[in-house]
Amino acid sequence: MDTFNIEDYPHQRLNPLTGDWVLVSPHRAKRPWQGQIEKPADHNRPSFDPTCYLCPRNGRAGGKINPDYKGTFVFTNDFSALLSDTPYGEVSEGGLFRAKSESGICKVICFSENHGLTIPEMKVSDIQKVVDVWCDQFAELGASKNIGYVQIFENKGAIMGCSNPHPHGQIWSSSSIPVEPAKESKTQKAYFEKNGSTLLGDYLKAELEKKERLVVQNNHFVALVPFWATWPFETMIISRRAVQNILELTNDEKTALADIYKKLTIKYDNLFEVSFAYSAGLHQAPTDGKNYPEWHLHMHFYPPLLRSATVKKFMVGYEMLAMPQRDITPEQAAKRLCDLPDIHYKKRES
Ligand SMILES: [Zn+2]
Ligand SMILES: [Zn+2]
Repeated sequence: MDTFNIEDYPHQRLNPLTGDWVLVSPHRAKRPWQGQIEKPADHNRPSFDPTCYLCPRNGRAGGKINPDYKGTFVFTNDFSALLSDTPYGEVSEGGLFRAKSESGICKVICFSENHGLTIPEMKVSDIQKVVDVWCDQFAELGASKNIGYVQIFENKGAIMGCSNPHPHGQIWSSSSIPVEPAKESKTQKAYFEKNGSTLLGDYLKAELEKKERLVVQNNHFVALVPFWATWPFETMIISRRAVQNILELTNDEKTALADIYKKLTIKYDNLFEVSFAYSAGLHQAPTDGKNYPEWHLHMHFYPPLLRSATVKKFMVGYEMLAMPQRDITPEQAAKRLCDLPDIHYKKRES
């Protein structure tokens, strides 16, 4: 037997942001794959769909009509998961039946009036308008006394349960800090108190030296496959400068965020030459009025596809009952993404 190394032997990796571990099985990536590799027809969608409730001038639930908007359009979700007028209260019966009220506001942002576009196909200047809306919404919602956290996210693709292909994202803001950001808040605070620098700032510095998991970068942001990635092609965008939230970004940094959002999603689309599904979202400091110098702005991308346009990674069995597991290593995933062309496959074909 050889000495232990993480290229060849099964091992666990720690996610320092959540404190969770992931099982990596590099030897299994070598096993033969006998399933069918098929590519679904990648239809070009029309720029307007009369049945789409997000297109300009179309009707939504409750008789509301969308304005004839150009660029971005924000509205309160017609079927919000959180309501702003939920009365405060708690239920606790002997500690085993605990519940507490939660209030908030859920919004939808259309990224473009064009039904047929996606982020990788949009112009950087148009994606920057999306970033500007994130900033406006974060400022407005975060300033509310009853909002402790603002979660900005995008669900893309039917495989992620996204019911409408119109390019759009969501913002759910809540009175309390949700589970994932709460975990990351705790770990980042502990790290900052011990080291006097942000966890992700130091992590990014080390990744830029190692150069093993980098995917794309620009002057202000780096996209990489984290050492502890769980999903096969999971990535993170990390700001080079440690900022608590998007409101601290300069104009140049906002343009750079739009730029790297496009560059990374082009890589994703090029991987299997299909419009690549994912759940992505920003993680930033809570908005409960406290100062969070330990928080370092970043964006997670959790895509489910594994080895083709149709073969998805399932988190089942061992993952549900024991812990998440992956075969292709984060280093192999990063190399594949990094080596892909920077030009969108649809543009290359034409
Ligand atoms: Zn539409
Ligand atoms: Zn995070």
